[in-house]
Amino acid sequence: MNKIKTTTIIDGKLIAKKVKDEIKAEVAGLIDNNDQTPHLVAIIVGEDPASETYVASKEKAARSVGITSSVYKYPAETTEEELLKTIEFINIDDEIDGLIVQLPLPDHINVNKVIEHINPDKDVDGFHPINVGKMVIGQPSFISATPAGVMELLKRYKIETEGKHCVVLGRSNIVGSPLSILMSKKTNPGNATVTICHSKTIDLNSITKQADILICAIGSPQFVKADMVKDGAVVIDVGIHRIPAETEKGYKIVGDVDFDDVSRKASFITPVPGGVGPMTIAMLLNNTLLSFKKKHNI
Ligand code: NAP
Repeated sequence: MNKIKTTTIIDGKLIAKKVKDEIKAEVAGLIDNNDQTPHLVAIIVGEDPASETYVASKEKAARSVGITSSVYKYPAETTEEELLKTIEFINIDDEIDGLIVQLPLPDHINVNKVIEHINPDKDVDGFHPINVGKMVIGQPSFISATPAGVMELLKRYKIETEGKHCVVLGRSNIVGSPLSILMSKKTNPGNATVTICHSKTIDLNSITKQADILICAIGSPQFVKADMVKDGAVVIDVGIHRIPAETEKGYKIVGDVDFDDVSRKASFITPVPGGVGPMTIAMLLNNTLLSFKKKHNI
């Protein structure tokens, strides 16, 4: 008789809430001990509505766990020099534990220069080359929030990764590349055999079909279909897209994976929304707490 196959939907919203509850409890304890709280600063340049929404939700989430949050807003015409000066002030401000510069920045500002200007000890986005380098050689560092969120989901769902074949779809600096490194490290989760795919990969389906764990960060709505996935694979969908739909709002949010199609085959799968997305902010807050604790030798 065939065993009945079940699919577990990974509840990122629930896990993100648990992570935030844990941070909140820890921050409350810190306040009791020394009357200080972690402080996160977000810099936003220009009036991009999506960036404003992201920053507002980071600010709200920080406050909800007792982390002090400030947003420095600058007009789109702000020069690179002015922005770098602001970063220099924040870098040496002992009251500030974490600094994020919301991307994208206006075209006249060099993003790499800005990221490299942030004090690596306050770089809670984990984008600074020093933090990326430390991650690669397995030293303690800030791991950027989205990859950290994926690893946390695998950990909390006790998904076996050791010796598994993990295929990462996408090689961006902020998602695909760091995840390929993290999954290959001598850690748990980790210890996987990793293949990284990108737009120049030939015969993509034959590779994705070998994946025990398939991480999709490709930036293409509902790209991954059931015929690209092995029976029983763990499927992690990092993508977020707004596509037109006959809903009240006129759109719906989907990922890089065709959820209805692929969930028939997957053993575990993250939905969009409600999978990886909620974890990103939770892990950013976690990095801010880590920075505070490091500063106070806690
Ligand atoms: P990205 O910078 O656009 O990178 C996409 C990657 O996918 C690139 O490496 C690209 O290859 C590869 N790719 C594109 N089309 C492909 C194809 N047909 N076959 C194989 N590979 C292909 O995207 P990203 O910043 O990593 O983001 C990926 C997705 O995650 C997006 O939907 C984004 O919105 C979402 N995201 C979500 C969160 C969150 O909090 N949940 C955070 C960040 C991003 P090349 O390198 O060859 O161009």
